[in-house]
Amino acid sequence: MSASSSFASLGLSQHLLQAVEAQGYTEPSPIQAQAIPAVLTGKDIMAAAQTGTGKTAGFTLPLLQMLAEGNKKASSNCIKALVLTPTRELAAQVAKSVETYGQNLDVSHDVVFGGVKINPQMMRLRRGVDILVATPGRLLDLYQQNAIKFNELDVLILDEADRMLDMGFIKDIKKILALLPKKRQNLLFSATFSPDIRELAKGLVHKPVEISVTPENSTAATIEHWLVSTDKKKKPALLNKLIRDNNWQQVLVFTRTKHGANRLTRYLEGEGTQALAIHGNKSQGARTKALAAFKDKKIQVLVATDIAARGIDISQLPIVVNFDLPNVQEDYVHRIGRTGRAGVDGQAISLVCADEYKQLVDIEYIIQQHIPRREVEGFVPHNPLEPSREIRPLKKKKPKKPKKLTDKVPPKSVKAKQADGENGENRSQKQGDKNRKKGNGSSENKASKSNRTRRQNPKHQLAQKPKTTGGRGRPNRGNKAGGGSQSNGNKGSSKKR
Ligand code: AMP
Repeated sequence: MSASSSFASLGLSQHLLQAVEAQGYTEPSPIQAQAIPAVLTGKDIMAAAQTGTGKTAGFTLPLLQMLAEGNKKASSNCIKALVLTPTRELAAQVAKSVETYGQNLDVSHDVVFGGVKINPQMMRLRRGVDILVATPGRLLDLYQQNAIKFNELDVLILDEADRMLDMGFIKDIKKILALLPKKRQNLLFSATFSPDIRELAKGLVHKPVEISVTPENSTAATIEHWLVSTDKKKKPALLNKLIRDNNWQQVLVFTRTKHGANRLTRYLEGEGTQALAIHGNKSQGARTKALAAFKDKKIQVLVATDIAARGIDISQLPIVVNFDLPNVQEDYVHRIGRTGRAGVDGQAISLVCADEYKQLVDIEYIIQQHIPRREVEGFVPHNPLEPSREIRPLKKKKPKKPKKLTDKVPPKSVKAKQADGENGENRSQKQGDKNRKKGNGSSENKASKSNRTRRQNPKHQLAQKPKTTGGRGRPNRGNKAGGGSQSNGNKGSSKKR
């Protein structure tokens, strides 16, 4: 990582410097060099940093320092700092960082998310927690059950705020904001500063220090992108061949659907390549196990859907494969953000069939580069992929007119995809299946179009007609198959009401 400053020059305490050194970090990453001193001044921050830039340490290090310096510990059921993340995996990851960096300090921390029992979390909160990492749904459940109080809160961090909005968490976030003390420090981290994020920021940060370490939607320079075009039905065999021929030992593969992930996993296993799938229909236990097995290199391939993979941080992950191109071009950036992290080289390989040409064009536009194409013998497509188009310069999205965030909830069908991710995954996939049954082969493309339109148009996210809500007036979240990231935790509180 290149930065001119050292960790010591950023004003961090000896305990933290030791913890950082123990991690083998020699110098701060650019986001850390800018964020750490700014956070320590007590100012609000708005930071554009994609995953892999070292942003987590960028906020956890100064946060730990401030809390260690403060002389009061959190009282019973109170918290001093709250880190909100969109997914359980990211929450667990952030909590692990807090633990790692805070190992020499007397600062308590905990992590709460849905999909696991709420009672143990309630018990733990009784002691008071200095830093709490949480997903929004479970946090609200805990609040409803009087397990948490916010009156001692000093700092709020929204991590991966863009993803939270994408996943339909705006209503939950606003509810949480309304519960917090007015006087507090706010840190907002997001991969991109879309108009939606700026809109959210208006009601959140006050005279923020703006930090940006990568241009919008850029991908880490250490990543080599390439693609192989082939026919759709040949993709599984092509992937297996690439893994074998290149002797890839740790490959993260993205599929668009959960069924696709299961199918591919079964195929790879059948071919003798150890693989596990991770997606919203898997229990939290199965997801955690699969991730651990992959991290420990006990399995070679982890097949994941976009949402399940969010927050996965595997140091030095060398290979990411897009088995299907994502429907939403920003997801390409998020996906390949799993590799090339912290300055390490990585490869992002896409298997692209003729049907995915439109997605490819969108991706090449957003990353502002053509993805080099390679041929693999025996896999040249019968239905060839059109040559790439000339890339238009990236248009800056015009900032929207100031508009008040409304409390309105998008219609169910839209929320279905977006609301808390995992269930959205279930629902969007069902929709796709339905369309397929109807004989509509391009259902995924349609879904992609409408998602794209909705994402690009903040109106779709922020000002839709109110609809029936579940439980505490939060969006209804299908929780079939126990896959919902917050859903399991909601049951109890909904009943209570
Ligand atoms: P993040 O963007 O926070 O998800 O961090 C990405 C990866 O970078 C993590 O695996 C960190 O352990 C690693 N990392 C964070 N800061 C540094 C640093 N200053 N030098 C080297 N690696 C780092």
